[in-house]
Amino acid sequence: LEQDLEQYRDLPSITKDQVHIPLRGNLEISSDVIQIKKHAAEGIGLYRTEFLYLGRSAPPDEEEQFQSYCEILKQAEGDPVTIRTLDIGGDKFVPELNLDDEANPAMGLRAIRFSLHEEQLFKIQLRAILRASSCGRVRILFPMISGVAEIRACKKMLGDIQAQLDKEGISYDPDLAIGIMIETPSAVMIAPLLAKEVDFFSVGTNDLIQYFLAVDRGNEHVAYLYDPLHPAILRALKMTCDAANEAGIEVCICGEMAGEPLYALVLVGLGFHELSMNPACVPRVKRVLRQVSKQDGATLVKQLLLLSTSKEVSTIIEAEMRRRL
Ligand code: PEP
Ligand code: MG
Repeated sequence: LEQDLEQYRDLPSITKDQVHIPLRGNLEISSDVIQIKKHAAEGIGLYRTEFLYLGRSAPPDEEEQFQSYCEILKQAEGDPVTIRTLDIGGDKFVPELNLDDEANPAMGLRAIRFSLHEEQLFKIQLRAILRASSCGRVRILFPMISGVAEIRACKKMLGDIQAQLDKEGISYDPDLAIGIMIETPSAVMIAPLLAKEVDFFSVGTNDLIQYFLAVDRGNEHVAYLYDPLHPAILRALKMTCDAANEAGIEVCICGEMAGEPLYALVLVGLGFHELSMNPACVPRVKRVLRQVSKQDGATLVKQLLLLSTSKEVSTIIEAEMRRRL
């Protein structure tokens, strides 16, 4: 089986109806880039920058971040790298940075809320990312956006920093793509409004499922309720993809769902343009994609949206996959 998977390494990720679905790698620590190369992922769809801040007494300065980003960009060899700004708080606790104890950290001052609160820290990261955009194809991604005001605040800060860099004669990519994570219910509900503000969406299903189903992603007692195929999740993904496709912006998925081969046909059918995953998952997902068509996926999705339980959904998906593979 492993040998069988090997043969997919250098084949393009194209469906039977000729739709190219880039399969990108998620990068959590810098050494993940080795796995990304090994499995021939097309660039990095999610660079979780948290690791740069972990296990140290002071956060990395602009120069250190700039060097780290450029190093990864160099290794990406022209493929795009989506750098997500700091996403701490919630399940990603950095003792040196997080504020007071929070009774409900998943809904607390995490991710973009933390960055907008700690403006100085955020500016340093934005400057480093902007500067790095002159070393390769950078896309910037803001985590846990829950309303339009937040993304506008981020864009305002980016604009101010660009003006500053212009003044200093420091180069950056003026067309840097700006994206947001779609991982809160409010973001899904206002996806058409958010789509007007940005160049792309990236759906974080790990948090999206947690917040939509009110199930703590790390709590084993309710793990049985953590359900990617819940009809509410399918509808949320559909709304997000429809909003992006209607606005003509790109929509990717970078949560764990993207790496599950069983879901690949559904995700393509929903209208996702790219999938980003643990790089080790790339060959299996690619094997599925090359044997199915986007058209079949869309037909399947229509059928799934009529069902009432995730059990019914998974039964149909499994039957469909058995028939096709
Ligand atoms: C997600 O929430 O799906 C995601 C990709 O981000 P993280 O797992 O880092 O919260
Ligand atoms: Mg998340």
